[in-house]
Amino acid sequence: MMDFPLTLRTMFERAEKFFPKKEIVSRTMSGLFRYTYADYARRTRRLSSALESLGVQRGDRVATFAWNDHRHLEAYFAIPCMGAVLHTVNIRLSPDHISYIVNHAQDRVMLVDETLVPLLEKVQDQLTTVQAYIIMTDKPELPPTTLQPAYSYEQLIASAEETYSYPDDLDEKSLAGMCYTSATTGKPKGVTYTHRGVYLHSITLGLADTTAVSEYDTLLPIVPMFHVNAWGMPFVGVWFGSKQVLPGPMPTPQILLELIQQEKVTISAGVPTVWLGVLKALEEGQYDVSSLRAVLCGGSAAPRGLIEAYETKHGIQFLHAYGMTEASPIALVSRLKSTQKDLSQQDRLDIRSKQGLLVPGLEMRIVGQDGEVNWDGQEMGEIWLRGPWIAHEYYEDERSSDSFVDGWFHTGDVAVVDEEGVVKLVDRTKDLVKSGGEWISSVDLENALMAHPAVFEACVTGIPHAKWDERPLAFVVLKEAYKDKVEKQELLSSLQDQFAKWWIPDDVVLLNEIPKTSVGKFLKRALREEYQEYYL
Ligand code: ADP
Repeated sequence: MMDFPLTLRTMFERAEKFFPKKEIVSRTMSGLFRYTYADYARRTRRLSSALESLGVQRGDRVATFAWNDHRHLEAYFAIPCMGAVLHTVNIRLSPDHISYIVNHAQDRVMLVDETLVPLLEKVQDQLTTVQAYIIMTDKPELPPTTLQPAYSYEQLIASAEETYSYPDDLDEKSLAGMCYTSATTGKPKGVTYTHRGVYLHSITLGLADTTAVSEYDTLLPIVPMFHVNAWGMPFVGVWFGSKQVLPGPMPTPQILLELIQQEKVTISAGVPTVWLGVLKALEEGQYDVSSLRAVLCGGSAAPRGLIEAYETKHGIQFLHAYGMTEASPIALVSRLKSTQKDLSQQDRLDIRSKQGLLVPGLEMRIVGQDGEVNWDGQEMGEIWLRGPWIAHEYYEDERSSDSFVDGWFHTGDVAVVDEEGVVKLVDRTKDLVKSGGEWISSVDLENALMAHPAVFEACVTGIPHAKWDERPLAFVVLKEAYKDKVEKQELLSSLQDQFAKWWIPDDVVLLNEIPKTSVGKFLKRALREEYQEYYL
C-alpha cells in the first residue's frame, strides 16, 4: 500500500473542502463570534503565511498563550500544517515555570491573547528565544504593551496570503506540537506530539467504543487548549467537520450551560471539578441541556455520585476516561461491555466509575513488585503503556530515563484490574497514603466522601504521623444547604461500612474551597504542606 504520511494537512483540508458551511462559535471579549469552516480555513492559511513572513521555518517552535477561542483554533492547524511546532503554554503556570518552558522549548514566536499580555509582560525579561509577539485582540489597534516587537494578529493576517499552500512532503514523524506537564514538583517536563500521533489519536476519539465524535456532534471543549490539546477535541473537530463551540476566557458554569443550551452542544469535555460546578449550576437554574448526548470527564477520578447524577437525574451519558499529557491523552475509557449491560444499575455504576478499558491501538501492563499483576481486582501495580500516541521521552530532559524504560512508559499511577480487564486507579504513586506500612487509596476515600449528600468536594491526603508514619486526613467542602448542619463525625461514620477501620481518616477539616492545580485538579501538595504538623 501507499506509504502515505499521516499529517495534519489532510485533516485540515478535509474540513475546508467538505464542510465549508459548518460553524465555529467562539466566546471572545466582545461577545460571541461565529464563522464558517470556509472562513476558518482562509484565516488559518493567512496565519501560516504571516508566520512565514516573520521568518518561521519548519521545525521552529511557535507558542500560544491563549484561552479556547477561534484564533487559538486557527493556530492549532496553521502552525503544524506549515511544518512548525505548536507549543501550547499553560497560562496558569507560575512565572518561573512559564519562562522555563518557553526558553526550554526555544519558542521563536508567541501568540498571546490580549487579556493575557500583562501575565507575559511579567516574564518577558527572562524569555531568551522569542523574536516576536503576536497579540490576539478583537480591537482594530494594538493594545499598549511592553512586549517587543509586538504585532497585531488581525493586521498581520489581513495582509497575508489566503492561498498559502501547505507542503505535502512533511514527514509524519515530524513534530506537530508540544505541551509541558503541570509539574507539582520539579520543573515541568516537555512532551512532544508527532503528526502521526495526533492523527491516530484523533481517529481513536471517533471510534464508537471510545468517544464516538462525529460530524453530527457539536463539541464544547472546556478542558483548556493549553492543556494536552484540549484532549484532542479541536483536532478531531476540524477533521470530522463537527460544529465547535469554544468557551473563551474564564467560562463560569452558568456561561457553559448557556452555551450548551443556545448552541445545542452534544458532547463536552472537562475535569471532575468542572462537572461538579456545572451540575450545581444546572440544579440551581433553569437550563435546557437536552441536546447533550455525553460529557467526557477525566484528569482525576470521577466520583460515582457525579456519574449517577448526570446519568439518572439528567439523562446525560457520563464518559469517564483516563489519560495524561504523555498519552495525548486518551488511554482508557469506561464503557460497559455488551455482556455487562444487563447488570443491576449499582453494578453498572461500579464499573463505570472505574477508569475503564484500554482503547484500541494501545498496549498496557500493570506491574507490581513481582511482575505483571493478576487480573483479580485486588493486586496493585503501576500502569505501563505503549502505543503510537504515547510519548517515548521527555523533551531534552534527563529525567526521561525514570519514566521511559525498555519501550514502556511508566505512568506513576497505581491500579488494579479485574477479570474483565477493567482498570481501577488506586492512586498516583506519590498520593498513596502509607499508614503503618500498608497502602491506603486516597481516591477511594474521596469517592466515598463525595457520595455523601452533604458533600460538594472532598480531598484526602496522607499527613505525617508519629506512630503510623502517615495517616489520611480528609478535607471537605459542604454544599451550601448543609453548612453548619453536618458534623465531621457523621461524615467519618458514613465510611465505616465501606472501609477497614484503619483506612478511615483520623479527622476531617471543613474548608470553603479546596486549592486546585492549574488545570482544576485538587492541589494535594498545598494541603500536605499546610497541614504537615496536624497529626504531630
Ligand atoms: P498533570 O500531570 O499535568 O496534572 P495530566 O493531565 O497529564 O496532567 O495528568 C495525568 C494524571 O491525571 C494521570 O497520570 C492520573 O494520575 C490522573 N488521571 C487522569 N485521568 C484520571 C481518571 N479518570 N481517574 C483518576 N486519575 C486520573
